[in-house]
Amino acid sequence: MKRRDFITATALAAAFGLAGKPVYNVLASKDALASKTGKRLAMVIDLKKFEGNSEMMNKCVDACHSMHNVPDIEGAKEEVKWIWPEPFEHAFLEQNNQFIPENIQNNPILIMCNHCDNPPCVGVCPPKATWKRAEDGVVMMDWHRCIGCRYCMAACPYGSRSFNWRDPRPKIKNITANFPTRSKGVVEKCTFCDERIVKGLEPACVVASKMYEPEAMVFGDLNDDKSNIRKILSENYSIRRKPELSTQPEVYYLI
Ligand code: SF4
Ligand code: SF4
Repeated sequence: MKRRDFITATALAAAFGLAGKPVYNVLASKDALASKTGKRLAMVIDLKKFEGNSEMMNKCVDACHSMHNVPDIEGAKEEVKWIWPEPFEHAFLEQNNQFIPENIQNNPILIMCNHCDNPPCVGVCPPKATWKRAEDGVVMMDWHRCIGCRYCMAACPYGSRSFNWRDPRPKIKNITANFPTRSKGVVEKCTFCDERIVKGLEPACVVASKMYEPEAMVFGDLNDDKSNIRKILSENYSIRRKPELSTQPEVYYLI
């Protein structure tokens, strides 16, 4: 665990009376495979299909950020991001080894909220501004209810959430009129494009990737044993980020 993660996790453990226990494991529920009913939406990202194609990666990011009014702010502290490229060794720190093919290790990978089946970010939110949907497992955000305490950011072991340290609106290149903007003091993250799911559409990043490679990103229901995502996961070796934390990430990477 990185030093910053350790400090935030320890502070959170103290705040919630969990001292002495691994906070991510404690905050994740004991029922590690909770979503057995309804849908269990998930994503597969095929790293080989992204290899050397930074244009495809950037298009996926642009599709998401432009559609969702994500501001373009520079600087690690203040930037806001829903999906972004990260070096392989950062994303898979614990799973990296010298025998993973160089072409995989040397290329950045796309990361986002994992829509964990056991999301530690949910239980710590005082106003319940973030929750996991019972019907499909998507981890949602209500920006109007967020009080900006950032407990969810401290609880997320993946750094998937961003905080608006300032009014983001002046930093949005072209505001998408039919999607809300956020305000200063609010946390935000990927919602698996819930506004598209409800219309039966795939996430914007998945659609953008299809313009380059047919199955570089695949979205579907893990509880449907006939679904394409189940077929792909049964036929390929996949890894997830920080599996040791029992959060059960629902973003799978083919290597
Ligand atoms: S990746 Fe982080 S923000 Fe997303 S559901 Fe998991 S713990 Fe929550
Ligand atoms: S699923 Fe939607 S919100 Fe999430 S990263 Fe992809 S485009 Fe963005």
